[in-house]
Amino acid sequence: MASKTFIAPEQVERRDLNQIEILGSAFILDGLDQPMKGMRIAVASFSHETLTFCPEISTLEAWEAGGIRYGPDALDTEGEGKGYITGYKEAADGQEDVELVGILRTGWPKLTGYGSWITTEAFDVIMGRIVSRLGEQVSGEGVDGVLLALHGAMAVTNVPRPEAEIVRRVRRVVGDVPIMVTFDLHANEDVEMANAADAVFILKTYPHLDSHDIGFTAATCMIETVRGEFRPEMAFRKPGVVSASIFQASEFNPMKKVYDRCREWEGRGVYCASVAPGFAYADVPDLGASVFVVTDGDRGLTEEAAQDLHELVWSLREELTRSLPGANEGVAEVIEMVEAGKKPVVIAYHDDRLGDGTHVLRELLDQGAVNWCSTGIADPEVLKMLEENHEVGDTVTVEIGGWLDPISGDPVEVTGEIEFLGGAEWVETGPIGRGAHEKVDLRASLDLGENRHVVITERLSAPMSADPLKALGLDVDGFDIVELKSRVHHKAWWDTWSAVDYPVDPPGLGPADLTILEYKHMRWDAFPIGGKYRKTSTRNVS
Ligand SMILES: [Zn+2]
Repeated sequence: MASKTFIAPEQVERRDLNQIEILGSAFILDGLDQPMKGMRIAVASFSHETLTFCPEISTLEAWEAGGIRYGPDALDTEGEGKGYITGYKEAADGQEDVELVGILRTGWPKLTGYGSWITTEAFDVIMGRIVSRLGEQVSGEGVDGVLLALHGAMAVTNVPRPEAEIVRRVRRVVGDVPIMVTFDLHANEDVEMANAADAVFILKTYPHLDSHDIGFTAATCMIETVRGEFRPEMAFRKPGVVSASIFQASEFNPMKKVYDRCREWEGRGVYCASVAPGFAYADVPDLGASVFVVTDGDRGLTEEAAQDLHELVWSLREELTRSLPGANEGVAEVIEMVEAGKKPVVIAYHDDRLGDGTHVLRELLDQGAVNWCSTGIADPEVLKMLEENHEVGDTVTVEIGGWLDPISGDPVEVTGEIEFLGGAEWVETGPIGRGAHEKVDLRASLDLGENRHVVITERLSAPMSADPLKALGLDVDGFDIVELKSRVHHKAWWDTWSAVDYPVDPPGLGPADLTILEYKHMRWDAFPIGGKYRKTSTRNVS
């Protein structure tokens, strides 16, 4: 029989509560003479959504320019909105035996549009830094677990499944301690991730509003696992469905059905049920939807839930694919809606992933629309020229956009008065990134007359609320039409402003119709674009 020792309540750590008998105001612990050793959970984040059809590759230089933080600084979330890391921190806060150890956190590579393929060098160098800093911790005070905040849609030259490779490289340093991963809803993952990680947790909201909560869920699981109070069982499925981001909003069907079912399973004892519909614009072998289910030691329940979600996603495959109007017919219909009093309208130019796309601006001008704002034409050269030669109040004629790739359309000539020129700062009050201090170095707004406005940006950018436009002095409530380059995230705020959210599908690198893209690496049986499902063969058979 183990000895019993009286200790004062303030010495009791939470991990011991299940060993405690409460007798009045005193505690009796069973077999515990020494204070518990604290646990040290290492945290690293290396995250990217790679659009492999874009022209600009994501070099180490671009990653460095986007900012990489090291050590304790990697955990500093001051001035940011909520995210995975704030969720990790909340789970650890107030737990005296838990210490989070910051390793490294990347920003987003600094490019004009979406970054294409990450170079092997960039991946290896950044992973080398993660691994060497982790190694120092392991041989120093030790590491009891690793939380990785990843995205899941990375594409790296010569590394077919980068996130699984990240976990494997981390595993080689830390050995047999739990490694748990949080992913964006746009993650493309497969069985290699399931083999590599102890538990996987994925966002359930798009617009992404639950990264803090998923971070909290993952870190709580980690803490309880290290304490021996949780035994993660994970099941994985790959339904073989690829869908455009524009059809993945979580509050609308078909994805609402999926997340409702996930929550149903969580109500029946599953710790966390995750379905990532994936990111269609990374030409990678693990492209498409994936299902990860985590339970506390219940193999049967884990498999049952994963199989059910797998079958549900497959059954919804047709609903995840449909066509949308182009810029010409789309803008015409929006003008009709406005004339009929169905306004204001947000035009979601969802597939411009470069930022310099002019298809919608061209139609707004040509079709004579008034009372509108085109919120983001990326053109750093024109901005620089304006900054060097002009000031607010000048009237200028400039050709903007249509310079990065032919798919963006031709440059558009506009004549207008400069109403804003310079750096801009604001605090985000919308649901996406609420509380974040945002800052851009250079931005311009031109007043074209008839309450028509064009915002010129340095790189791909879309307002997630009215705040970025108000920061330029624009009267958002005076517009009938706001055109922005976003798919779903903007809806978190703009749906509260607009009468209609109207997605259009002009030529762009993130189209609704995936069959126009030329994939080389994806699975043959990925619906609807794998070789098995293509209606016409792209092969030249003679
Ligand atoms: Zn996402």
